[in-house]
Amino acid sequence: MSVVSDIELYGKRSVTVFVTLDVVDPRFALLQKLLLSYKVDWLDQRWDDYTDEEYEAAPLIVVQALSEHHVVGGPRFHTEYDLSKACPACGAGMRQTGAYTIDGAGATAVGLGQSRVVHSYSELLVDQPLAETLARANLSGLSFRSVYAYQPDEVPMELIWKQLWAHSTLPPMSPRSTGVDFDSACKTCRRGKIETTSPMRIAYRTRDLEGAQDVNRMWEHFGYVRWNGDLKTAVLWQPFFVVSPKVWRIFRDAGVSGFRWLPIRVVDDE
Ligand SMILES: [Zn+2]
Repeated sequence: MSVVSDIELYGKRSVTVFVTLDVVDPRFALLQKLLLSYKVDWLDQRWDDYTDEEYEAAPLIVVQALSEHHVVGGPRFHTEYDLSKACPACGAGMRQTGAYTIDGAGATAVGLGQSRVVHSYSELLVDQPLAETLARANLSGLSFRSVYAYQPDEVPMELIWKQLWAHSTLPPMSPRSTGVDFDSACKTCRRGKIETTSPMRIAYRTRDLEGAQDVNRMWEHFGYVRWNGDLKTAVLWQPFFVVSPKVWRIFRDAGVSGFRWLPIRVVDDE
């Protein structure tokens, strides 16, 4: 249990507390009962915990970035995209053509110094030593792109960080994935704006994994979208990375935090 904040707002004390419990812990039901009887507001977030053995045995692992270490960047900061295959309704399928550019003037840029990997709308930016380790590991499907910081009225500045670039996109996931609200998908392309709940369990058919590399992207785009066809105002989360246990091991050994690693499940062909 940890107290996250204890503040007084309009004369009323407001305390936020995080409690993490195993779902089968008998104290879990007791806690819910107490919260109800004391009329305390709460949010229930559920996720799966995996062991190292489960990661090692996984065919692929989805990399889900948590809210920490997020850096603002992308289309609004002059990163260039090819829109010829993008969905007109939600922008899904827009393809980055230039170097990734982050908001060099914004507050989130300081996050670059706090972790070896930061993320920006599901793009992954790694520090130079980690980029070198990844490059030396001969991972299939991976290359690197430069990262620039943009500040108004200044020449964009190249950073020592590198953007991970996957050459392969997996086919659409199996409809037997759970924690995925398929009904929320963009009506035009079925690819964007997909909402999820926790725990998310992503499934692929065996045939979907033929040709998978060490580093891949999902086909689907999850979450919030701001898109009216104009890159200057666009906010769009790119598909999650899906990596082999080899990549997970490198991140783990580098002490990278701030990500949830979700081993995929393989289901029989329907
Ligand atoms: Zn769409």
